[in-house]
Amino acid sequence: MYMSWQTYLSDHRERFIQELVDFVSIPSISALPQHKADVRRAAEWLTARLSSAGMQNATLINTAGHPAVYADWLNAPGKPTILLYGHYDVQPVDPLDQWVTPPFQPQIRDGKLYGRGASDDKGNIIATVQTLEAILRTAGQFQVNVKCIFEGEEEIGSPTLGPAIAEHRDLLACDHIFSMDGLQWGENAAGILVGLKGMAKLQINVYGPSTDQHSGLFGATLQNPATALAHILAALRSPEGKVLVDGFYDSVRPLTAQDRAHLAAVPFDPAAVERTTGVPALSGEPGYSPLERMWARPTLDVNGIWGGFQGAGSKTIIPATAHAKITCRLVADQHPDQIADLIEAHIQRNTPSGVRVTVEKSSGAYPFLMSPDHPSNLIVRDVLTTLYGSAPYYVRVGGSVPVYAVFERELGVQPATMGFTLEDEQLHAPNEFWRLESFDKCQLAYGLLLHKF
Ligand SMILES: [Zn+2]
Repeated sequence: MYMSWQTYLSDHRERFIQELVDFVSIPSISALPQHKADVRRAAEWLTARLSSAGMQNATLINTAGHPAVYADWLNAPGKPTILLYGHYDVQPVDPLDQWVTPPFQPQIRDGKLYGRGASDDKGNIIATVQTLEAILRTAGQFQVNVKCIFEGEEEIGSPTLGPAIAEHRDLLACDHIFSMDGLQWGENAAGILVGLKGMAKLQINVYGPSTDQHSGLFGATLQNPATALAHILAALRSPEGKVLVDGFYDSVRPLTAQDRAHLAAVPFDPAAVERTTGVPALSGEPGYSPLERMWARPTLDVNGIWGGFQGAGSKTIIPATAHAKITCRLVADQHPDQIADLIEAHIQRNTPSGVRVTVEKSSGAYPFLMSPDHPSNLIVRDVLTTLYGSAPYYVRVGGSVPVYAVFERELGVQPATMGFTLEDEQLHAPNEFWRLESFDKCQLAYGLLLHKF
């Protein structure tokens, strides 16, 4: 019997790194049909690895798409149950010629393991599974019931995870969810994810005459669809960025004093954003700091406008149509369908006479907001504070991750995030890598987490 799980981890480090290499070698690219069998092979590899770690009931959960992997250890009666989440699928690898070494022939250089999926998210998964093994082989048990769900479709937006979870609600029932698909703030600073934005999507079509018309003959008597569209768009948003759609902010949860303090504590340099984006000045909704706007306030953006003559020189027409695509980034508790309806109504109210307007709405995404003081986040904060020697920042992301809303909706549990990926690790890009230092941190973190119960 080993003295401790930490000793076990360091004694088996060479084998464990080789396992990371083996796992990353499987090209489990979920987006590409020609890799379907590889995705399944990665799922089977992971299922076998969970069993050899001492986890029980390791099995594939078949879905309409790529399978998910499940395993559990439920021998702590009366104790809480935690569900560990990650994804074993990876992004495509092109442009292939920009990789220094082939994406599925992982290589270690300068303490970093290079290969597709090393950082996002296979490294976090294998490190955690190895920690489960270390604890089971040393202590013989956990102080808590443990379930694992690793999906194979995160990189394509988790299309079948929702139905799969709904179908296996009892199997996956739990008190806490910890996602290992997440970032730390930096090598020496930790972060806890508390918010993600949702999304609403629309296309506006403005129709005037049935074909383009001569502006000299008809210009004074026909409404111009392109000009009408400009009026419609101007009515949606102030020049600074405040959304003018009636009711748009009604369901937005206001920032609390604690939220604002947490956001103000995060290091942020507006001048650096101006430099990297090449703009003369930042802009956005008045009354909020740039970081508050980026992470915690909703937006409305025109993503594209087209219509009329686009060629060289001029063409004197009244165009028949004009179009625009719009997306909104939403925050809690905005509902994507309700926001799309409000925008449509606002567009109809602000359409000049003489044109017909249609609005096409496509399916959106729900925002996610979790209290910093949620019991799962308190555990993560304890672990990260021990690991980094300082308190983590509370961070948010302006993007959307569908799986968070899926867990919240289907299992009634908000997932806390504790992953050890860093932003500079070429995620989704050539030469993705993971620091072996993060490998050790991840193992230690999940070992500490399991001992918090
Ligand atoms: Zn990921």
